[in-house]
Amino acid sequence: MKNRLSYRLQNISYSQTIAMSAKARELKNKGYNIINLSLGEPDFSPPNFVLSSAKKAIDEGYHYYTPVSGYFELKKMICEKFSRDNRLKYTPSQIVVSTGAKQAIMNVLLSLLNKDDEVIIPAPYWVSYLQMVKFCESSPVIIPTIMKNDFKIHPEQLEKAITSKTKLFIFSSPCNPTGSVYSYEELKDLSEIFKKHPKVMILSDEIYEHICYSEKHTSIAIFPDIHNQVITVNGLSKAFSMTGWRIGYIGAPEWIAQSCDKIQGQMTSCANSIAQIAAITALAAHPNKIEYMIKEFKKRRNLVLDMIKEIDGFQFYQPNGAFYIFPKISSFFGKKLHGKIIQNSDEFSEFLLDQSKVATVSGSAFGDNECLRISYASSDDKIIEAFTRIKKVLN
Ligand code: PMP
Ligand code: GLU
Repeated sequence: MKNRLSYRLQNISYSQTIAMSAKARELKNKGYNIINLSLGEPDFSPPNFVLSSAKKAIDEGYHYYTPVSGYFELKKMICEKFSRDNRLKYTPSQIVVSTGAKQAIMNVLLSLLNKDDEVIIPAPYWVSYLQMVKFCESSPVIIPTIMKNDFKIHPEQLEKAITSKTKLFIFSSPCNPTGSVYSYEELKDLSEIFKKHPKVMILSDEIYEHICYSEKHTSIAIFPDIHNQVITVNGLSKAFSMTGWRIGYIGAPEWIAQSCDKIQGQMTSCANSIAQIAAITALAAHPNKIEYMIKEFKKRRNLVLDMIKEIDGFQFYQPNGAFYIFPKISSFFGKKLHGKIIQNSDEFSEFLLDQSKVATVSGSAFGDNECLRISYASSDDKIIEAFTRIKKVLN
């Protein structure tokens, strides 16, 4: 029966982040004491003012389909947010609200990509970019990066990768899985390359924008010469700890926004109405209202850096954003651990789950087979226990 599925589907794989967290959940349900550091999901509750707003929306009768691209009030608020936090000028007709940033990204890819178009993606990349591009039957062109360069690309690498078939460039800053953050100057240098190639569009995934520990996040769309090439993606999942509420959005040239509206009108009609009302309240709040979460993530990042030092064979760096660390673990390859020879990061991640009952995600999911992604969107106690267990099985 399987070969009756579309080629498009046969060409893609399951999301490894979701698969690992499902596995961790299953083992937990069977009674194992699992610590799940696989999923990138904040463990806070959304702020109380957002919860109250959603309850009020239910009582006030927001039960019906909204306009496909979102309530006008929300789109206006998103424009204000872009202006306040990112110095970006968008009008409501350039905004589309979707069921999570995931749908927002997929809408953009479906809008732009034809078979055989090339899409440049720096690796390590977020797990779904590659699969979404393949789903559109386009060709991913991967630019590898290294830890020594903070996992960032150089403008020359970008320039070399661009061909007449290049349609799109996709990246996240702060980056999932590396936690790297591109500085203003680095983005400016990249923008100079894009300026020379006005047909190349840029999808800038800024879902971790507030989770930045050193300098402030910069949006690549602020460079006027390339503003019209950029689709800025954001959402409420990470900043407001609202992963299950499923609100994401784009700010984009109007022709892209119109196309996403068209696709969404056929696929989902609109994002959830109650969550949209709560999103207006969330985005109206100044980012200092969520600073307590960012401070906590920074504390945890420092805790992780302290603990990871104690583990022989982990090569690491200091991530400056998001809530992941992406250590290189290839020094274990070819070695026998608890009776089994470890060949790659998949096996290493499996080994940790089996032996220490800590769930992580193999670097191969993110295009780097020598690393491992550990999410620290978890409590201090769990982080301490997880690293203590890992140290015990490895040292
Ligand atoms: N982009 C990145 C880089 C992510 O880590 C995530 C995590 N889920 C998403 C997009 C999708 O977020 P959402 O929950 O809004 O769909
Ligand atoms: N973005 C999160 C992660 O990378 C959630 C899972 C997903 O959407 O893939 O873990």
